[in-house]
Amino acid sequence: MAQKHIEFDITIIGAGVVGLSIAKTLAEQGKLSVLVIEKNESFGQETSSRNSEVIHSGIFNHIDSIKYQFCVKGEKLLYDFCDQNKVWVNQCGKMIVSGKHEQNNFENFVHTLEEKEFNFDILNSQQTQKLEPSILSDQSILINNSGIVDSHGLMNQLYRISSNHHTYIFGSTPVEITKENEQYHLTIQRKHQEIEHIKSRVIINAAGLQSYKIAHHIMGEALQIPTMQFYKGSYFSLSPQWTNKFNRLIYSLPSDNDSLGVHVGFDSTGKSKLGPDYEHVEDDAWDYSVDVQSKKKFYALAKNYIKDLDITDLHPDYAGVRPKLFYSSNQFSDFYIQEESENGYPNLINLIGIDSPGLTSCLSIGEYVYKFV
Ligand SMILES: Cc1cc2nc3c(=O)[nH]c(=O)nc-3n(C[C@H](O)[C@H](O)[C@H](O)COP(=O)(O)OP(=O)(O)OC[C@H]3O[C@@H](n4cnc5c(N)ncnc54)[C@H](O)[C@@H]3O)c2cc1C
Repeated sequence: MAQKHIEFDITIIGAGVVGLSIAKTLAEQGKLSVLVIEKNESFGQETSSRNSEVIHSGIFNHIDSIKYQFCVKGEKLLYDFCDQNKVWVNQCGKMIVSGKHEQNNFENFVHTLEEKEFNFDILNSQQTQKLEPSILSDQSILINNSGIVDSHGLMNQLYRISSNHHTYIFGSTPVEITKENEQYHLTIQRKHQEIEHIKSRVIINAAGLQSYKIAHHIMGEALQIPTMQFYKGSYFSLSPQWTNKFNRLIYSLPSDNDSLGVHVGFDSTGKSKLGPDYEHVEDDAWDYSVDVQSKKKFYALAKNYIKDLDITDLHPDYAGVRPKLFYSSNQFSDFYIQEESENGYPNLINLIGIDSPGLTSCLSIGEYVYKFV
């Protein structure tokens, strides 16, 4: 007996901040029928709610990277969206601190900012102390346009706008996807329900940590990128006496690996935290627990620039996992956002390796992906 297929113009796999942003752009721009498949019981329960919530300005990304382009555009779109939709943001700015022994790194970093034509100020240690009394730094860089966003509030609004127009099915995952003539056929497993068969002209793979696996399942060897890698990042919260002690995000100078280093952040209540660290983990061999043993490492890094910090002020908080793609020749990862016609899969759009600054970039990614459908 022939299987009954429900048809959609577009199927988005994954309702993290990226899938939601694409869904929101599609809801605003067109009359296409859209299905969003999400394996969890609600949207945004993975990487999109396990990050630093920083609105980046692009200072840490290479000027010729895809990340940089999306971040710079996304930052402006995100501030506007949050303003219009009453999502909490704090454009608090970012301070990059340094010690005496880091003079060369400091100068090199200043040079990259000049190259990107960013506005910034250089502060000596007294000027730094005046703005941030709890911070020790020989020389600092002050960037005004970075900020913090309530990622849950953001996703609530993206879902509210897009779910008025689109069909969301939670607790569902595609177990098979095949290309048949001009369409994709999806077999979808739903929790406690029958398998569903769907036809879709376009597939948008925004499945975060599983995006590489899904792309490989559909395309096999035609997927021309290296395997995705996973890097866990943990956070320690600081005791209540550190609440509202920092006015800005505090970073150290970028290291020579692909991480931004352990920084000081805070949330809408002023609660301060340290993180994330950078730990390579094997695919599927990790969990979201925070290793208490790493407290010493966090303390050793942070005590260099936080005055009077005590190790007992640190408390294990939460962790997230970065999906990273080192697909260019250097050691820095980049996004892969590709409509796959040239690899034999027209109307398949893969979004792979969307780690930081993916939250900042979500709305610019949404606008970009819309151009393909
Ligand atoms: C420690 C850490 C700190 C970060 N800090 C920042 C920051 O400060 N600023 C910033 O801009 N970015 C930051 N990021 C990056 C940012 O969080 C991500 O780029 C962004 O959340 C990615 O969103 P996403 O929608 O692609 O992925 P996800 O949020 O992972 O969403 C993917 C969705 O797909 C679903 N899914 C997966 N597989 C399937 C399947 N088979 N079927 C159905 N659904 C599926 C998942 O359940 C999930 O809901 C950070 C990331 C980490 C890990």
